[in-house]
Amino acid sequence: MSRACRLCGSTGTVPLDVLAPEELEREYRRQCGVRIILPVQPIEYRCCDQCGLRFFEPAEPGDDAFYAALGRLPWYYQDEKHEFALAARRIGPGHDVLEIGAGRGAFACGLRARSYCGLELSTAAIATAHASGLTLLRETVEEHAARRPAGYDVVCSFQVLEHVHDPRGFLEAASCCLRRGGHLVVSVPAEDSFMGADRFDVLNMPPHHLTRWTDRALAAVAGLVGLELIDVTHEPLAPGHARLYARVAAQSGFAALRGWAPRLLDARLTSPLAAGCVWLHASLIRRTLRFRRRRPAGHTVVAVYGKP
Ligand SMILES: [Zn+2]
Repeated sequence: MSRACRLCGSTGTVPLDVLAPEELEREYRRQCGVRIILPVQPIEYRCCDQCGLRFFEPAEPGDDAFYAALGRLPWYYQDEKHEFALAARRIGPGHDVLEIGAGRGAFACGLRARSYCGLELSTAAIATAHASGLTLLRETVEEHAARRPAGYDVVCSFQVLEHVHDPRGFLEAASCCLRRGGHLVVSVPAEDSFMGADRFDVLNMPPHHLTRWTDRALAAVAGLVGLELIDVTHEPLAPGHARLYARVAAQSGFAALRGWAPRLLDARLTSPLAAGCVWLHASLIRRTLRFRRRRPAGHTVVAVYGKP
């Protein structure tokens, strides 16, 4: 098993935690009603000292059946994302746009551009997009970059990078698709937010998410794939995530009080005593949220890069 960083290649990575495959299988069933079968070996959660990427190893992406099962959950595909507006600001009517991982094609709706090309690997998502009149290509970005290098003014990828096994290859191919002066817009779940402290979000673990992105890792991308970092923007906490934010903060507070090091799927936090204290503390945190001057960082961070 390689323990090298999947972004910068450094061998200076350190273990943060270890997950038993049966724990993950049980949590996917409990939280999402989805059955997964993982290889029997333990899954390490590691952090790269060099670039700040956090990643799981070994970890293979979910297959078509896995994504089809998740796609049937009513909340899985969102037709409105905070980052759509940020990306749209970079797009003019004379631009050729590529979207990597187009899902059901929500971003393409109402986009004002000269041309739009969407790549998608999920058969179910492609069929849904097709039914609403949008044709997506079933192609990886690496395959597409080989066919159309320097073919686009703007390349976007929303909540996709964290799913891929080779983020370096993915980002190099995305950069290759850009013309000089073009922009790459990437959104991912923000590890430097409550998401990074959430010990129970099974969808932020394999086989759904294989990497986790700190702001430091997003900044490191630029130098590694020949781009310049223009901007990193955190989405403010969405009202729909306030309850989760409060629970995560209360769980972290309870664990710190007991002197427990952070652990993914930490069963100690599910005991009746812990759950009761967390519930009480979380309801207090939720009440105080409305009085805070600035909303805390939310689910998503968006990085914008330029091609020199
Ligand atoms: Zn690294």
